Amino acid sequence: MRFLQTQEIVPRLVSALKLPYVPFSHGSGQNLVYLRGVRFRERQYADPAVVPYPLPADEAGKTPAQLMLRGIRTYIPRAATMTSAEWEQAKKTASYNGQLLADQGFWNLMQRALSPEGFDLVADGIGYPTLFENWNAAEQMQALAGDFAPGAAYFTTRGGYQRLPLTLGTMARQAGAAIHLQHPVVGVEPSPGGEVSLTVQSPGGASTRVTARHVIMAIPSDPLARIVERSPFLQDAKLAAAMATVGTSPASKMFLAFDKPWWSALGIAGGSSITDLPIKRCWYFGTEGQQPGANPASKHSLLMCYNDLSPAGYWNGYEPAPAFTGPPAPRASPRPLVASAVEQLSELHGMKVPDPYWSGFIDWQNLPYGNGFHCWLVHARSWEVIPYLRRPFDGIGLSICGDCWSPAQNWIESGLTTTEGLLQSTFGYRPPPWLPEGMGIST
Ligand SMILES: Cc1cc2nc3c(=O)[nH]c(=O)nc-3n(C[C@H](O)[C@H](O)[C@H](O)COP(=O)(O)OP(=O)(O)OC[C@H]3O[C@@H](n4cnc5c(N)ncnc54)[C@H](O)[C@@H]3O)c2cc1C
Repeated sequence: MRFLQTQEIVPRLVSALKLPYVPFSHGSGQNLVYLRGVRFRERQYADPAVVPYPLPADEAGKTPAQLMLRGIRTYIPRAATMTSAEWEQAKKTASYNGQLLADQGFWNLMQRALSPEGFDLVADGIGYPTLFENWNAAEQMQALAGDFAPGAAYFTTRGGYQRLPLTLGTMARQAGAAIHLQHPVVGVEPSPGGEVSLTVQSPGGASTRVTARHVIMAIPSDPLARIVERSPFLQDAKLAAAMATVGTSPASKMFLAFDKPWWSALGIAGGSSITDLPIKRCWYFGTEGQQPGANPASKHSLLMCYNDLSPAGYWNGYEPAPAFTGPPAPRASPRPLVASAVEQLSELHGMKVPDPYWSGFIDWQNLPYGNGFHCWLVHARSWEVIPYLRRPFDGIGLSICGDCWSPAQNWIESGLTTTEGLLQSTFGYRPPPWLPEGMGIST
């Protein structure tokens, strides 16, 4: 979907690949908020009389993002402007009440830094319930301070963010690599000379064995746990402890296509509106006619509702059985799901929302992903776990990297960060010419 201008790798990589990119709209003060049954415009956060949370004077008039940053700055004053190298340092030293922030819960500390109503407004109004679970405070502060920093600018590649991995895949093939989709690794075992053998399953169910000098497993915790179950060699207490340092959270997306952007009549041009209804955060995209090569007269428009944690569970209840047991796949939304979404959209927007002509739904909860989001747990030491996973077994060519165990998780940037860290430290590569030395690498 989008990347942050302040990320260290992605904006440079997108430029190096010469992929055209465009601003990703976060809307304007006209976007809607619907909390505790009160509908108001985002700009009206400045008016305490409108916001249905009785806030103390020093919190009144602030947006949820401003309040959240205020809470984070209680513990890390320069949080909004720190580089990733500075965060790595802070995680090892920043403390509160004589305890490292990494040993404390984000929820516990934010609840203390804000008034009860201030905390509730942040948790309800940010629009991503997962973020306010009791994750590792130091890691969560890094992840959120960058995303919600004042003036944060977002971009996406023209034609969709998927163009980035597709371009990298094409380049890898041109350089001689083979990419085999739908061929999961089901077992891992050591081979003579420190090599590693993989058992790979083809779509028909047949298994083949592949041996390599070095295997890099860039997969999250749930699918890795499944491989460990079937690989005695990986059943190691230290690896199990490292894998158990992250928690997971479900996520789903619902897409609704309309004949025209009915939200324009409300003065909304892009970005998202937020509510405490299960529809949670709905993003407005442009019209079909604005896309390159499309019929400029087409006003067909897309709205996307983005759910995580318990709102994701609400929508899953409408899903057919295969969505509960099968791998994540885009599916046509069942009619009752669409009816509930339209009802809630009407409530959020204060108007009768028309029926969409199409709707699709995807839930990331099953393998091969396991879950939507990953977050470090309290007491995790990311600065020890990430380097350990680069070479968990002495003398054996096996490495683990990716977003799941990375700084500021849940961004493409984070997965690239641990990959770049692995390439530079374990394989001894220099950074690519477009990436300054020491930048964009995990601890
Ligand atoms: C709803 C949602 C919205 C998001 N929006 C954004 C956004 O706007 N911008 C952004 O930067 N990030 C976003 N993210 C986060 C981003 O998608 C992740 O950070 C990123 O995909 C992580 O990359 P990864 O390669 O580490 O892991 P993954 O993308 O999870 O890739 C792991 C791969 O391993 C494969 N795999 C699993 N098991 C096996 C096996 N046994 N054998 C072989 N292969 C296997 C899987 O098929 C998968 O391809 C979003 C995530 C979600 C869930």
